Amino acid sequence: MSCLLEVKDLHVHFESKNRSVHAVRGVSFHVNKGEVLAIVGESGSGKSVTAKSIMKLLPPKGSSVKKGSILFNENEITTMSKKELAQIRGSKIGMIFQDPMTSLNPTMKVGDQIAEVLVVHKGITMKEARKQAIELIQLVRIPNAVHCCNKYPHQLSGGMRQRIVIAMAIICEPDLLIADEPTTALDVTIQAQILDLLKEIQEKMGMAIILITHDLGVVAKFADRVNVMYAGKIVENGTTEDIFNNAKHPYTLGLLHSVPKLDQDQTQRLTSIDGTPPDLATSIKGCAFAARCQYAMDVCDEYDPEASPLSKTQAANCWLLDKRAPRVDPTVELHDASNG
Ligand code: SF4
Repeated sequence: MSCLLEVKDLHVHFESKNRSVHAVRGVSFHVNKGEVLAIVGESGSGKSVTAKSIMKLLPPKGSSVKKGSILFNENEITTMSKKELAQIRGSKIGMIFQDPMTSLNPTMKVGDQIAEVLVVHKGITMKEARKQAIELIQLVRIPNAVHCCNKYPHQLSGGMRQRIVIAMAIICEPDLLIADEPTTALDVTIQAQILDLLKEIQEKMGMAIILITHDLGVVAKFADRVNVMYAGKIVENGTTEDIFNNAKHPYTLGLLHSVPKLDQDQTQRLTSIDGTPPDLATSIKGCAFAARCQYAMDVCDEYDPEASPLSKTQAANCWLLDKRAPRVDPTVELHDASNG
């Protein structure tokens, strides 16, 4: 598969009067054409900031990409002018946010909003754009598309609004769709419908998706590969199968053991990850997970582990994978804890 997006050693800072937060601390990953890459992690792990950096959607005041490169179709995004970016946003890279109301104009009918995107990016007439808007509303499976076109966002349900946002994001058949917690604000039934719809559209159009989520159920259903982020870094990456069947990083294992499974004994307790992530406004020495990790060794407090390759498709940043580390099996021990 050929590479569509390559992020290398990305560092993002947020500065205020008295604080400087190092929100993304050297993130590198790639997305191939047509694949779904999930980025998972707790709130504040840097996953949304990473996604917004790709679209250059970070707040202009106080945020900056201090270092790193973002290559999209071999074009460097970090140094692009506003004009160059405008040509990419919407047409080559689409984005879906968690709350559809933040993406929709409350004073405009949804049909006109969809049509406007087509007029801007495809240069077609408003009449033709409206016709295509109706077709798109049908594609995202909203009944009575003509009637829906004349509604304002507040007159639609949350699920319908998210379908409209999806329609707007895919309107120009982008090569890459960034979906930032696209179903978090919706109830469970609608979540499943929206995910099925996204998957269907992705397969039909062959676009790549970066899916930002904290929901491992969504990842299992939807993603080809997974990046696990913690405290502004990727701590483990692999195929979805690698992560669900052979995770090695204690943080990934903690996440996996904190979600219920259908085949699990219902009397079995779920485990949680004790403690809280570190303050990214302070400088972090060693492994950022050390204060919460039951396997932490002296070396973990001193030195940040590099990525250790586990296979051609998987790598994790943990000193336990060093050949000099004591032999422990976090997989088994975490399993025992959840049985206890
Ligand atoms: Fe735990 Fe050390 Fe591995 Fe960090 S490097 S996850 S502290 S064992």
